Amino acid sequence: MIQNIQEFHSQLIDKKITISDLVNYYLKNIEKKNKDLNIYLEVFDDVLTIAKQYDAELENKSSDEIKTFLETKKLFGVPVAIKDNILIKGKIASASSKSLEKYVASYDATTIVKLREAGAIFLGRVNMDEFAMGGSTENSAYGVTKNPLNKEYVAGGSSGGSAAAISADMALITLGSDTGGSIRQPASYNGVIGLKPTYGSVSRHGLMAMASSFDVIGPFSKDIDDVKMVFEIIKGQDELDSTTHGEMQPMTKNKIKVGIPNEFIFTEGVSEEVKESIKDVSEKLKAQGVEVVDISIPLLKEALALYYILVPAEVSSNMARYDGVRYGEAVSTNNGIEDYLQTRGQLLGPEVKRRIILGTYILSAGYHDAYYKKALIFREKLIQDVKEKFKDVDVILTPTTPDTAFKIGEKVTDPLALYLADIFTVTANLVGMPAISVPYMTDKGETGTENKMPLGLQFMANTDDENVLFSIVKML
Ligand code: GLN
Repeated sequence: MIQNIQEFHSQLIDKKITISDLVNYYLKNIEKKNKDLNIYLEVFDDVLTIAKQYDAELENKSSDEIKTFLETKKLFGVPVAIKDNILIKGKIASASSKSLEKYVASYDATTIVKLREAGAIFLGRVNMDEFAMGGSTENSAYGVTKNPLNKEYVAGGSSGGSAAAISADMALITLGSDTGGSIRQPASYNGVIGLKPTYGSVSRHGLMAMASSFDVIGPFSKDIDDVKMVFEIIKGQDELDSTTHGEMQPMTKNKIKVGIPNEFIFTEGVSEEVKESIKDVSEKLKAQGVEVVDISIPLLKEALALYYILVPAEVSSNMARYDGVRYGEAVSTNNGIEDYLQTRGQLLGPEVKRRIILGTYILSAGYHDAYYKKALIFREKLIQDVKEKFKDVDVILTPTTPDTAFKIGEKVTDPLALYLADIFTVTANLVGMPAISVPYMTDKGETGTENKMPLGLQFMANTDDENVLFSIVKML
């Protein structure tokens, strides 16, 4: 079927396809496969009506007129699926939590406003780990999302539904959110592309906060040009999010220099296949005339510890609002304080509670200085060290994850093992810099793994230098 937006729009121009055709194609696929894969939590009931309205807008236009029209409406008719923590006015947004099972959004997230203005059609909302905490979608209150490439495996997370919807051909574009890898890790597990933009380049207004100084919304697709286009549409300063900033710097380099932190990658806990993939890509880049150098950032080894101190701290504070009074579902007893305890006790899942407890502990008077404050100091140091490296290299290459997707159930009883899988992704969020995950492939077009599951390559760049990421991915 349709592979990318450009192909879809050229077929619209040539009147070879209608928007309803494409929407119907996805709806049929969803109907056929979703029961089993559990990717969509809800398919919106107005999708076809909107598709028909949009078709009607094109009906009396000539091909030339459609072409001109599509230059201004870059996502016209493009079917998009949205992670369940991004608000669409009038639709449920549950963050895959029991506590928000019937919560209806009263406004559109800024990213939704922008996609809508560009002509996108929202197919539905897709599964995730509860409140974006996790890396396998197993923390969803609505069941795990299976990996479409092999149903025994997880689709990753927390944006597991967003990544799986792309690989299962259930949407052309999806949005996810990334606090410590939740776009890149599932992209890697599903063999698709996922971009975590620079912190503050995309508005968080209407994204349910997990850890406010880490969260960012970004796109998934099979096509790098689509990722770039959607990023350009959703980015920009927003008066509703004071942490956003304006235009990014234009790309001026004509030669890209890649740094690989070898001591960080070629170590215990990283699979041999993953190590091979890095060696192979490094050779491929060199063969294309790219300078590839070994770099050392000793603090990278501490990134995971910093992340799992700072993030629960922010989580515990952000989650305070889900008290059964202000938002969402409530458990009623005859006692005020008991209502509060029962609501949070019954309606939030184990991982969310674990992080609230951890974060509250970290922020408590006796431990604040020992953990939280210390981690903040080291976060600043890490930012300086990474910035310093970007004076020398343009991108930093690492694997996205230490291994391929794991089997469903394999790590549910061992949260620490799951946390460790975030080792390569959390740094970009700690330092606020952009990073992209793209599927690795051998010369023969294979995954290079025994279980045939895909591996992801992660490229990270300096603040606001998304363009160098797009360039290097295109080279590959
Ligand atoms: N797996 C990471 C975590 O559980 C990342 C989550 C995310 O990016 N939302 O914290």
